[in-house]
This record gives sequence, C-alpha cells and structure tokens, in this order.
Amino acid sequence: MSIAAALKEQITDTGPLTIAAFMECCNTHYYVENTPFGTEGDFITAPEISQVFGELIGIWCVQQWQALGAPSALHLVECGPGRGTLMHDLLRGTQHISGFHQSLTIHLVENSPTLQEEQRTLLQGTDIPIQWHDSIDSIPPGPALIVANEFFDALPTHQFQYTKDRWQERSVTYDEGQFCFTLSQPFISIPEDLPPVEEGAILEISPAREAVIQCCAHHLAEHGGAALIIDYGYTAPPLVDTLQAVRQHRYHPVLEAPGAADLTTHVDFTALKNVVEQAGCRAYGTITQADFLTQMGIELRMQQLAQQASPQQKQALAAALKRLTHPEQMGTLFRCLAITNMDMPAPYAFTE
Ligand code: SAH
Repeated sequence: MSIAAALKEQITDTGPLTIAAFMECCNTHYYVENTPFGTEGDFITAPEISQVFGELIGIWCVQQWQALGAPSALHLVECGPGRGTLMHDLLRGTQHISGFHQSLTIHLVENSPTLQEEQRTLLQGTDIPIQWHDSIDSIPPGPALIVANEFFDALPTHQFQYTKDRWQERSVTYDEGQFCFTLSQPFISIPEDLPPVEEGAILEISPAREAVIQCCAHHLAEHGGAALIIDYGYTAPPLVDTLQAVRQHRYHPVLEAPGAADLTTHVDFTALKNVVEQAGCRAYGTITQADFLTQMGIELRMQQLAQQASPQQKQALAAALKRLTHPEQMGTLFRCLAITNMDMPAPYAFTE
C-alpha cells in the first residue's frame, strides 16, 4: 500500500492526524525510499557543501576529549548521519591526533536501513568499531561526545493554532480527494503560562525532540561528555508556521505527495535548553553557525586548501565558505547549541 493510501485509511479509521504523526509517518518513509542529499537529491546539508564542516567539528570533539582528560574509551555518537559524510570528514581530520581514534567507539543513530547501508559503505575504511542504533536510548554507559547536524528539525512536531480565544491542534484530514489541514482538540497539553497572542498564531511543540535531548543530557550528566547540536531554528518562538517540505531543492507543498519530500520544522532551542538544564547539564549558546565556524578557524582551513587548488577549485572553496557562513545563506539561520556535564569547562567557540 502506498503511504498516501495508508494515511488516508488511518484518517478514515481514527480521524485527523496530528502534524507530528503526519511528519513521523512521512519522514520515516522518505528517508528509506528517496535520495535526500546532494545535487541529484532534494537538499544539500553543510557536510555535503564542504569537507571543512566535518573537519572543524572533529577538532571541536578533540578539544572536548582533552577537556574530559583524554579518556581511553569514548563513545562518539552521531544522530542522523545522513550519508555519513560528516563522520567521514571528522575521522580523516583527526587521524593524526595521538590516542584519539584509539579511544573511540562510533555509534550512529539512524532509523533508515537505506542510509545505514550508505554510511557503512562510506565508513568501511576505518578500523574504529561502529555500532548502529535505531534510537539514542541504546548508547552504552561511558563518556560520550554527541553530534547532530540537521537531525532535530526532522523530528515530529505538534502545531497549535490560536483560534477564537483558544489553542486548537493543527491536524491533517482527507477531504474531497485530497489531504488538507483542519483543527482538532489538542492531543497533548499546552503550557498554561503563555503570553497573550493574536488570532491565528501558531505554536510548535516537539515532545519527540525534547525526549531525544533529555536522553542525551541524562547520559552526559551520568557518564560525562559533551554534545554539539546544529540546526536551523529560533530562541524566541516566532508564533508562525515553520513546517516545510523540500523536494529537488525547492519548497514543495507540505501535503502534496506525502513521503516524497523531507518535512521539517524550525527547532525551538529554548525548549531544548530548558530540558538540558533540568536534566543536570550545562547548555551553551546558541551561537550562529557563522560564529561557530569562524571561531573554529574555517577561514584559515579554507586558505590552506586553496594553496594546492586549481582556480576552479579555489572558486568552489570561496563559494562553500560563503554558503556556510554568509548571513543570507546558512550563516545565521543555522544555530549551534553545546551541552556539557556540570564540571567541564565551557566548550571551545562557546566562551564569551
Ligand atoms: N546529518 C546529516 C543528515 C541530516 S537529514 C547531514 O547533515 O547531512 C536527517 C537524518 O536523520 C537522516 O539520516 C535521517 O534518516 C535521520 N533521522 C530522521 N529521523 C530519525 C529518527 N527518528 N531516528 C533516527 N534517525 C532519524
């Protein structure tokens, strides 16, 4: 049965689906059946733009490993590794750091069997042990470094619309031969202390994201370590609809062709920080992706690469630098949140 037929059947049987349920169903299908990444695919992520992205995250990880006292056993966890490009560049960029690779076990949290296979192929050259996990809660005990780029945005989000003096859940139904939005009674509770809002305001709440970040923070609080979360998002809820679908590098109507486009919402970093602090960890940032990459030395690294590059490659390097750091491209919309256990120093790039 096609995903559209399955969704239709579910709506007929049990009524409208929350946006969160719709996202979960569509994205699970999408990441198994499609070619998400690269020029041939639907969208390009930072690690696919330049090898420097993963290399600089590698340096950040080495600094955190040293801040932990260079333990001889460390879990290096990546959530939603896509093609595995970030991990591949991270490992190549850190191979000369004495003792670092020897300490690592890699854990890739990935629920798409198709992408697990791509990751296995790309990373087959490494002799570091790699374990795959469907979800973050099976990471074994021990100090950990956790990285996630464009992972949280794909996790299911509930949406509520303020209509006639109350919040109603934005949902998906099927009517007159097509999927369409409707409003329902809220399926989950909404905070009571919200400031007044205007008619039509949209509130986004993602218990799925909060559960993942809570699991990460509990692990770091108990076993030590740090996390780096990079995603597009906000610190003050914009109270607008940020649900979007991207297909072949263009925005695509959200309800058209379910499962054929990546569905995301912007990440509410303040909600994540609150969970981190309640779980007994420190949260740093957010800072912009441009600030993070600049602090980590992106310009110097690009210059190094340019020294041996052809004129055409030099142009490509300059274009990648701009794409990753320019305010009108990924530089300010993408933000970085760092998490550490209580007694670690402030992580590099996140100091005032
Ligand atoms: N980090 C990569 C890919 C981002 S796309 C990059 O920057 O290129 C999102 C990734 O998260 C994909 O690998 C997708 O399969 C994975 N993913 C999405 N939802 C997931 C979930 N609930 N559990 C585990 N992995 C998930």
